[in-house]
Amino acid sequence: MLTEGDLGPTSSRVENPLHHAAHGPPPRAGEDCEHSLPFLSRAAMISELSSDIALGVTIPARHARGRAARLGASLDAILANHDYPPVIERLLAEALALTALLGTLLKDPGGQMTLQAQAPGGIIDLLVCDYLGGELRGYVRHDAERLADAGPNPSLFALFGKAYLAITFDQPATEERYQGIVPLEGESLAQAAQTYFSQSEQIPSLVRLASHEDEHGRWHAGGLLFQHLPEGEEGRERLHTRLDHPDWPHVAVLAGSVKAEELTDPDLPLDALIWRLFHEEEEVRLLEPVALSRGCRCDPAYVRSVIARFPADERDDMRGEDGLIRVDCAFCATSFPIDLDEAAA
Ligand SMILES: [Zn+2]
Repeated sequence: MLTEGDLGPTSSRVENPLHHAAHGPPPRAGEDCEHSLPFLSRAAMISELSSDIALGVTIPARHARGRAARLGASLDAILANHDYPPVIERLLAEALALTALLGTLLKDPGGQMTLQAQAPGGIIDLLVCDYLGGELRGYVRHDAERLADAGPNPSLFALFGKAYLAITFDQPATEERYQGIVPLEGESLAQAAQTYFSQSEQIPSLVRLASHEDEHGRWHAGGLLFQHLPEGEEGRERLHTRLDHPDWPHVAVLAGSVKAEELTDPDLPLDALIWRLFHEEEEVRLLEPVALSRGCRCDPAYVRSVIARFPADERDDMRGEDGLIRVDCAFCATSFPIDLDEAAA
Protein backbone atom coordinates (compact mmCIF):
# COMPACT_ATOMS: atom_id res chain seq x y z
CA MET A 1 0.00 0.00 0.00
CA LEU A 2 1.27 3.42 -0.89
CA THR A 3 0.83 6.70 0.85
CA GLU A 4 -1.18 9.47 -0.70
CA GLY A 5 2.03 11.23 -1.68
CA ASP A 6 2.76 8.29 -3.96
CA LEU A 7 -0.43 8.68 -5.91
CA GLY A 8 1.55 9.20 -9.04
CA PRO A 9 4.51 11.01 -10.50
CA THR A 10 2.31 13.84 -11.65
CA SER A 11 0.17 14.29 -8.57
CA SER A 12 2.16 17.19 -7.19
CA ARG A 13 1.61 19.08 -10.44
CA VAL A 14 -2.08 18.75 -10.11
CA GLU A 15 -2.19 20.02 -6.58
CA ASN A 16 -1.04 23.42 -7.68
CA PRO A 17 -2.44 24.21 -11.11
CA LEU A 18 -1.77 27.93 -10.70
CA HIS A 19 1.90 27.16 -10.53
CA HIS A 20 1.71 25.52 -13.95
CA ALA A 21 -0.05 28.43 -15.48
CA ALA A 22 3.08 30.45 -14.91
CA HIS A 23 5.52 27.77 -16.02
CA GLY A 24 3.85 26.04 -18.92
CA PRO A 25 2.72 22.47 -19.15
CA PRO A 26 5.01 19.82 -17.72
CA PRO A 27 5.70 16.74 -19.84
CA ARG A 28 2.79 14.38 -19.65
CA ALA A 29 2.90 10.71 -18.91
CA GLY A 30 0.99 7.70 -20.08
CA GLU A 31 -0.96 7.13 -23.23
CA ASP A 32 -2.69 10.44 -22.80
CA CYS A 33 0.58 12.26 -23.14
CA GLU A 34 -0.15 13.48 -26.63
CA HIS A 35 -3.48 14.95 -25.63
CA SER A 36 -3.40 18.70 -25.88
CA LEU A 37 -5.83 19.58 -23.19
CA PRO A 38 -7.09 23.15 -23.28
CA PHE A 39 -5.81 23.65 -19.78
CA LEU A 40 -3.51 26.59 -19.82
CA SER A 41 -5.87 29.18 -21.18
CA ARG A 42 -8.12 28.83 -18.19
CA ALA A 43 -5.67 27.64 -15.59
CA ALA A 44 -5.78 30.94 -13.77
CA MET A 45 -9.42 30.32 -13.03
CA ILE A 46 -8.73 27.03 -11.27
CA SER A 47 -8.55 27.55 -7.56
CA GLU A 48 -8.86 23.95 -6.51
CA LEU A 49 -9.85 20.61 -7.94
CA SER A 50 -13.38 20.75 -6.63
CA SER A 51 -15.79 22.30 -9.10
CA ASP A 52 -16.01 23.30 -12.75
CA ILE A 53 -13.14 21.05 -13.58
CA ALA A 54 -12.30 17.77 -15.28
CA LEU A 55 -9.38 15.62 -14.24
CA GLY A 56 -7.82 12.87 -16.34
CA VAL A 57 -6.42 9.71 -14.80
CA THR A 58 -4.45 6.76 -16.09
CA ILE A 59 -3.76 3.48 -14.35
CA PRO A 60 -0.95 2.14 -16.54
CA ALA A 61 -0.66 -1.33 -15.06
CA ARG A 62 -4.40 -1.89 -15.58
CA HIS A 63 -4.50 -0.46 -19.12
CA ALA A 64 -7.18 1.92 -18.00
CA ARG A 65 -7.82 5.59 -18.35
CA GLY A 66 -10.46 7.73 -16.78
CA ARG A 67 -11.94 11.15 -16.29
CA ALA A 68 -13.66 12.72 -13.35
CA ALA A 69 -15.61 15.94 -13.78
CA ARG A 70 -17.61 18.19 -11.53
CA LEU A 71 -19.77 21.20 -12.35
CA GLY A 72 -20.93 23.93 -9.99
CA ALA A 73 -21.05 27.61 -10.95
CA SER A 74 -20.85 26.77 -14.67
CA LEU A 75 -23.91 24.58 -14.31
CA ASP A 76 -25.85 27.24 -12.41
CA ALA A 77 -24.95 29.72 -15.15
CA ILE A 78 -26.30 27.41 -17.86
CA LEU A 79 -29.50 26.56 -15.98
CA ALA A 80 -30.11 30.20 -15.04
CA ASN A 81 -30.66 31.08 -18.69
CA HIS A 82 -33.54 28.65 -18.89
CA ASP A 83 -36.53 28.19 -16.70
CA TYR A 84 -36.72 24.43 -16.68
CA PRO A 85 -38.68 22.30 -14.23
CA PRO A 86 -36.49 20.37 -11.72
CA VAL A 87 -36.79 17.08 -13.65
CA ILE A 88 -35.30 18.73 -16.74
CA GLU A 89 -32.65 20.60 -14.75
CA ARG A 90 -31.50 17.35 -13.16
CA LEU A 91 -31.28 15.60 -16.51
CA LEU A 92 -29.48 18.48 -18.23
CA ALA A 93 -27.05 18.68 -15.30
CA GLU A 94 -26.13 15.02 -15.80
CA ALA A 95 -25.93 15.45 -19.56
CA LEU A 96 -23.52 18.36 -19.08
CA ALA A 97 -21.37 16.29 -16.71
CA LEU A 98 -21.24 13.60 -19.40
CA THR A 99 -20.38 16.26 -21.97
CA ALA A 100 -17.48 17.40 -19.78
CA LEU A 101 -16.20 13.81 -19.48
CA LEU A 102 -16.37 13.18 -23.22
CA GLY A 103 -15.27 16.62 -24.38
CA THR A 104 -12.08 16.49 -22.37
CA LEU A 105 -11.13 13.27 -24.19
CA LEU A 106 -10.56 15.33 -27.34
CA LYS A 107 -6.95 15.57 -28.40
CA ASP A 108 -7.43 18.65 -30.55
CA PRO A 109 -7.72 21.83 -28.44
CA GLY A 110 -10.05 23.19 -31.15
CA GLY A 111 -12.09 20.00 -31.13
CA GLN A 112 -15.79 19.97 -30.46
CA MET A 113 -17.93 17.25 -28.91
CA THR A 114 -21.68 17.25 -29.35
CA LEU A 115 -24.10 15.05 -27.48
CA GLN A 116 -27.60 14.87 -28.82
CA ALA A 117 -30.60 12.84 -27.73
CA GLN A 118 -33.49 12.90 -30.18
CA ALA A 119 -36.91 11.47 -29.53
CA PRO A 120 -39.66 12.33 -32.01
CA GLY A 121 -42.88 12.32 -30.01
CA GLY A 122 -41.17 12.17 -26.62
CA ILE A 123 -41.97 14.46 -23.68
CA ILE A 124 -38.41 15.55 -24.35
CA ASP A 125 -37.90 15.53 -28.09
CA LEU A 126 -34.43 17.07 -28.12
CA LEU A 127 -31.53 17.38 -25.71
CA VAL A 128 -28.32 18.93 -27.01
CA CYS A 129 -25.07 19.67 -25.19
CA ASP A 130 -21.70 20.54 -26.59
CA TYR A 131 -18.12 21.15 -25.56
CA LEU A 132 -15.43 23.33 -27.09
CA GLY A 133 -12.20 24.30 -25.35
CA GLY A 134 -13.53 23.80 -21.84
CA GLU A 135 -16.78 25.60 -22.56
CA LEU A 136 -20.09 23.83 -22.11
CA ARG A 137 -23.61 24.66 -23.17
CA GLY A 138 -26.85 22.77 -23.53
CA TYR A 139 -30.61 22.94 -23.79
CA VAL A 140 -33.64 20.68 -23.66
CA ARG A 141 -36.78 20.97 -25.76
CA HIS A 142 -39.75 19.49 -23.99
CA ASP A 143 -43.52 19.49 -23.70
CA ALA A 144 -44.22 21.19 -20.35
CA GLU A 145 -47.82 19.96 -20.07
CA ARG A 146 -47.00 16.32 -20.66
CA LEU A 147 -44.02 16.60 -18.32
CA ALA A 148 -46.26 17.87 -15.52
CA ASP A 149 -48.44 14.79 -15.99
CA ALA A 150 -45.44 12.46 -15.76
CA GLY A 151 -44.92 12.97 -12.02
CA PRO A 152 -41.86 14.09 -10.05
CA ASN A 153 -39.58 11.20 -10.97
CA PRO A 154 -40.21 9.94 -14.51
CA SER A 155 -37.97 7.25 -15.94
CA LEU A 156 -35.65 7.94 -18.84
CA PHE A 157 -38.05 6.02 -21.06
CA ALA A 158 -41.04 8.03 -19.82
CA LEU A 159 -39.21 11.23 -20.74
CA PHE A 160 -37.91 10.23 -24.16
CA GLY A 161 -39.80 7.17 -25.33
CA LYS A 162 -38.00 5.64 -28.27
CA ALA A 163 -34.96 7.82 -28.72
CA TYR A 164 -31.46 7.91 -30.11
CA LEU A 165 -28.24 9.14 -28.59
CA ALA A 166 -25.73 10.60 -31.03
CA ILE A 167 -22.23 11.57 -29.95
CA THR A 168 -20.05 13.46 -32.39
CA PHE A 169 -16.37 14.30 -32.11
CA ASP A 170 -15.02 16.93 -34.48
CA GLN A 171 -11.29 17.54 -34.56
CA PRO A 172 -10.57 20.26 -37.12
CA ALA A 173 -6.77 20.07 -36.75
CA THR A 174 -6.76 16.57 -38.25
CA GLU A 175 -10.08 16.90 -40.10
CA GLU A 176 -11.32 13.93 -38.15
CA ARG A 177 -15.03 13.58 -37.56
CA TYR A 178 -16.52 10.65 -35.77
CA GLN A 179 -20.16 10.10 -34.96
CA GLY A 180 -21.74 7.17 -33.17
CA ILE A 181 -25.48 6.69 -32.79
CA VAL A 182 -27.10 4.20 -30.44
CA PRO A 183 -30.61 3.73 -29.07
CA LEU A 184 -31.10 5.75 -25.88
CA GLU A 185 -31.78 2.86 -23.55
CA GLY A 186 -31.36 1.99 -19.90
CA GLU A 187 -32.37 3.43 -16.57
CA SER A 188 -30.19 6.49 -16.80
CA LEU A 189 -28.13 8.66 -19.10
CA ALA A 190 -25.02 7.03 -17.62
CA GLN A 191 -26.25 3.60 -18.72
CA ALA A 192 -27.07 4.93 -22.16
CA ALA A 193 -23.53 6.33 -22.40
CA GLN A 194 -22.08 2.96 -21.42
CA THR A 195 -24.15 1.35 -24.15
CA TYR A 196 -22.79 3.92 -26.56
CA PHE A 197 -19.22 2.95 -25.76
CA SER A 198 -19.83 -0.79 -25.91
CA GLN A 199 -21.94 -0.72 -29.09
CA SER A 200 -20.52 2.15 -31.06
CA GLU A 201 -16.90 2.28 -29.97
CA GLN A 202 -16.51 -1.23 -28.60
CA ILE A 203 -14.49 -0.03 -25.64
CA PRO A 204 -15.37 -1.54 -22.26
CA SER A 205 -16.39 1.52 -20.25
CA LEU A 206 -17.93 2.53 -16.99
CA VAL A 207 -19.92 5.77 -16.68
CA ARG A 208 -21.40 7.24 -13.52
CA LEU A 209 -23.32 10.53 -13.42
CA ALA A 210 -25.08 12.39 -10.64
CA SER A 211 -26.67 15.76 -10.07
CA HIS A 212 -28.08 17.45 -7.02
CA GLU A 213 -29.65 20.77 -6.08
CA ASP A 214 -28.51 21.93 -2.65
CA GLU A 215 -30.53 23.76 0.01
CA HIS A 216 -29.35 27.11 -1.41
CA GLY A 217 -30.76 26.28 -4.83
CA ARG A 218 -27.31 25.71 -6.31
CA TRP A 219 -26.78 22.77 -8.63
CA HIS A 220 -23.90 20.33 -8.49
CA ALA A 221 -23.21 17.63 -11.05
CA GLY A 222 -20.44 15.11 -11.32
CA GLY A 223 -19.34 12.25 -13.47
CA LEU A 224 -16.81 9.48 -13.70
CA LEU A 225 -15.73 7.69 -16.86
CA PHE A 226 -13.30 4.79 -16.96
CA GLN A 227 -12.26 2.86 -20.01
CA HIS A 228 -10.18 -0.16 -20.73
CA LEU A 229 -7.51 0.48 -23.30
CA PRO A 230 -5.50 -2.01 -25.27
CA GLU A 231 -1.82 -2.32 -24.62
CA GLY A 232 0.53 -0.61 -27.00
CA GLU A 233 -0.40 2.05 -29.44
CA GLU A 234 -3.73 3.71 -29.71
CA GLY A 235 -6.48 1.44 -30.87
CA ARG A 236 -9.81 0.04 -29.97
CA GLU A 237 -10.24 -2.72 -27.48
CA ARG A 238 -12.73 -5.26 -28.81
CA LEU A 239 -15.27 -6.62 -26.40
CA HIS A 240 -14.51 -10.24 -27.12
CA THR A 241 -11.03 -9.77 -25.68
CA ARG A 242 -12.45 -8.50 -22.43
CA LEU A 243 -12.28 -11.85 -20.66
CA ASP A 244 -8.58 -11.99 -21.42
CA HIS A 245 -8.10 -8.84 -19.36
CA PRO A 246 -8.88 -9.41 -15.71
CA ASP A 247 -7.61 -5.86 -15.12
CA TRP A 248 -10.76 -4.30 -16.49
CA PRO A 249 -13.32 -5.92 -14.15
CA HIS A 250 -11.05 -4.87 -11.28
CA VAL A 251 -10.99 -1.23 -12.40
CA ALA A 252 -14.73 -1.30 -13.10
CA VAL A 253 -15.49 -2.57 -9.60
CA LEU A 254 -13.37 0.13 -7.94
CA ALA A 255 -14.63 2.95 -10.16
CA GLY A 256 -18.18 1.65 -9.90
CA SER A 257 -18.09 1.90 -6.12
CA VAL A 258 -18.27 5.70 -6.37
CA LYS A 259 -21.36 7.15 -4.70
CA ALA A 260 -23.63 9.77 -6.22
CA GLU A 261 -22.96 12.13 -3.30
CA GLU A 262 -19.21 11.79 -3.84
CA LEU A 263 -19.63 12.82 -7.46
CA THR A 264 -21.56 15.96 -6.55
CA ASP A 265 -19.87 16.96 -3.26
CA PRO A 266 -18.17 20.34 -3.89
CA ASP A 267 -16.03 19.81 -0.78
CA LEU A 268 -14.43 16.65 -2.14
CA PRO A 269 -11.62 17.55 -4.57
CA LEU A 270 -11.45 15.25 -7.59
CA ASP A 271 -7.91 14.11 -6.83
CA ALA A 272 -9.08 13.08 -3.35
CA LEU A 273 -11.98 11.20 -4.93
CA ILE A 274 -9.63 9.32 -7.27
CA TRP A 275 -7.38 8.55 -4.30
CA ARG A 276 -10.35 7.23 -2.35
CA LEU A 277 -11.28 4.86 -5.18
CA PHE A 278 -7.84 3.69 -6.30
CA HIS A 279 -5.45 4.10 -3.36
CA GLU A 280 -4.50 0.43 -3.43
CA GLU A 281 -3.27 0.61 -7.01
CA GLU A 282 0.45 0.54 -7.60
CA GLU A 283 0.46 3.66 -9.75
CA VAL A 284 -2.23 6.18 -10.58
CA ARG A 285 -1.29 9.12 -12.76
CA LEU A 286 -3.23 12.33 -12.71
CA LEU A 287 -3.18 14.51 -15.81
CA GLU A 288 -3.54 18.27 -15.94
CA PRO A 289 -6.98 19.43 -14.92
CA VAL A 290 -9.16 21.19 -17.46
CA ALA A 291 -11.23 24.13 -16.26
CA LEU A 292 -14.85 24.11 -17.33
CA SER A 293 -17.13 27.08 -17.86
CA ARG A 294 -20.37 28.04 -19.47
CA GLY A 295 -19.86 29.32 -22.98
CA CYS A 296 -22.09 30.02 -25.93
CA ARG A 297 -20.90 30.73 -29.41
CA CYS A 298 -23.95 32.52 -30.72
CA ASP A 299 -22.63 35.52 -32.61
CA PRO A 300 -24.95 38.35 -33.70
CA ALA A 301 -22.47 39.47 -36.38
CA TYR A 302 -22.41 36.02 -37.92
CA VAL A 303 -26.20 35.69 -37.78
CA ARG A 304 -26.53 39.10 -39.43
CA SER A 305 -24.19 38.02 -42.24
CA VAL A 306 -26.26 34.88 -42.84
CA ILE A 307 -29.56 36.78 -42.88
CA ALA A 308 -28.09 39.44 -45.17
CA ARG A 309 -27.70 36.74 -47.83
CA PHE A 310 -31.45 36.04 -47.91
CA PRO A 311 -33.47 37.71 -50.70
CA ALA A 312 -34.85 41.12 -49.68
CA ASP A 313 -38.49 40.02 -49.71
CA GLU A 314 -37.73 37.08 -47.41
CA ARG A 315 -35.84 39.35 -45.06
CA ASP A 316 -38.81 41.69 -44.95
CA ASP A 317 -41.04 38.77 -43.96
CA MET A 318 -38.74 38.07 -41.01
CA ARG A 319 -39.01 41.58 -39.60
CA GLY A 320 -41.07 42.32 -36.55
CA GLU A 321 -43.23 45.39 -36.06
CA ASP A 322 -40.20 47.36 -34.92
CA GLY A 323 -38.42 46.56 -38.18
CA LEU A 324 -35.89 44.31 -36.45
CA ILE A 325 -35.35 40.63 -37.09
CA ARG A 326 -35.19 38.64 -33.85
CA VAL A 327 -33.00 35.56 -33.76
CA ASP A 328 -33.13 33.24 -30.79
CA CYS A 329 -30.26 31.16 -29.49
CA ALA A 330 -31.74 27.98 -28.01
CA PHE A 331 -28.56 27.21 -26.07
CA CYS A 332 -28.52 30.36 -23.99
CA ALA A 333 -32.20 31.31 -24.46
CA THR A 334 -31.18 34.74 -25.70
CA SER A 335 -32.93 36.77 -28.37
CA PHE A 336 -30.82 38.97 -30.62
CA PRO A 337 -32.37 41.91 -32.43
CA ILE A 338 -30.75 42.17 -35.84
CA ASP A 339 -31.01 45.51 -37.59
CA LEU A 340 -30.22 44.89 -41.26
CA ASP A 341 -30.73 48.52 -42.26
CA GLU A 342 -28.05 49.53 -39.81
CA ALA A 343 -25.77 46.79 -41.15
CA ALA A 344 -26.31 47.96 -44.70
CA ALA A 345 -25.78 51.61 -43.86
ZN1 LIG B 1 -26.22 31.41 -27.32
